[in-house]
Amino acid sequence: MTLEQAQALDAVDPLAGYHDRFVQPEGVIYLDGNSLGLLPTETVAAGADIMERAWGQRLIRSWNEGWIDAPSRVGAMIAPLIGADADEVIAADSTSVNLYKLIVAALRLDPSRNVVVSEAGNFPTDLHIAEGAVAAVAGAQLKVVERGVLAEALGDETALLLLTHVHYKTAERFDMTAWTRVAHDAGALICWDLSHSAGAVAVELNAAGADLAVGCGYKYLNGGPGAPAFLYVAKRWQDRLHNPLSGWMGHAAPFEFADGYEAAAGMKRWLTGTPSVLGLAALESGLKLWDSIDLAQIEAKSAALWNIFHVAGTAAGLECVTPADPAKRGSHISFRHPNAYEIVQALIARGVIGDFRDPDILRFGLTPLTLSHADVWRAGEMMREITESGEYRKAEFAVRNAVT
Ligand SMILES: *Cc1c(COP(=O)(O)O)cnc(C)c1O
Repeated sequence: MTLEQAQALDAVDPLAGYHDRFVQPEGVIYLDGNSLGLLPTETVAAGADIMERAWGQRLIRSWNEGWIDAPSRVGAMIAPLIGADADEVIAADSTSVNLYKLIVAALRLDPSRNVVVSEAGNFPTDLHIAEGAVAAVAGAQLKVVERGVLAEALGDETALLLLTHVHYKTAERFDMTAWTRVAHDAGALICWDLSHSAGAVAVELNAAGADLAVGCGYKYLNGGPGAPAFLYVAKRWQDRLHNPLSGWMGHAAPFEFADGYEAAAGMKRWLTGTPSVLGLAALESGLKLWDSIDLAQIEAKSAALWNIFHVAGTAAGLECVTPADPAKRGSHISFRHPNAYEIVQALIARGVIGDFRDPDILRFGLTPLTLSHADVWRAGEMMREITESGEYRKAEFAVRNAVT
């Protein structure tokens, strides 16, 4: 692939127009949109509006002018991106907190099933939260096993199989339909963590028969740092599962100020306290970009960007750890190298921002909305130059930062 060929792909790219709808920092090729998505230009105005008008002028009146319904409204905007109905998704809290709510709820559904099964090497918070959730339910246990023996780990005592759809390090993607069936065959529920999937690949929760899901607002959905997350509960479970963090915003009638808790119908019961209005406003603004996007185009562009960067990484002597089959991966690519940290730092010094994942992984988000093919080609060239010249060996690139 040459630069001219990459530019030719840009010329016919149906998503090319989205590049300039994001604030693109000068001199930066941003390959970390899978970790913190870019700032949509329209979010700058939306942020000013919510601050100056809605908060500054309208004050408490704004609750009845759109704030109180924001979690449901934003959830409904996420629903088509994950193959769910509008009334099966709500935006709330963080992914971590939502995981806690759903795991405890699943454990309380049937006392004869008290084991949560998950994958070794899953994203840390998923396992940490699962540990805390089983500790909160008498008799419950967490079983963490390697991917190869997950199916065997399920049995009559399994309440929930907790899987991250696209792996945060390797980008490996589970077959959602097949694994949902594996959980159901064992009589268990499944909860999918879609943090690296929503906005990255076409997700079909309902078609797969999934039960529960959570996901992140600040990655591919461009909701901003610490944006509210989302959770999904399939309609058939909505009356039977209960939020263990029962708070007044999940009450059937919060403004009746009753002493006793009575869960709201539908997804509202998954709210706990007062929603983060500023965060929801930024997330809602980012989601507006997805209005008319065909996820098949997202997947096709992701595959094209992946091919360009894969060729470059291989030429740079890096070992790709992401599956070659597009159906078996998400929208990031990871390589292994003993000097992964230093190479990532040398790239950042040149304005190519990716990230390092302990112990030896270089990870690059190939976000179809915000990147051009030429951007990815240029980043690949720089990676090749850095490894061929040994530029990454400079002492300054070995200094470790707190956030990698
Ligand atoms: C990013 C990510 C999270 C983030 O959880 P927070 O509560 O937002 O910190 C959780 N799980 C997975 C798989 C992720 O990739």
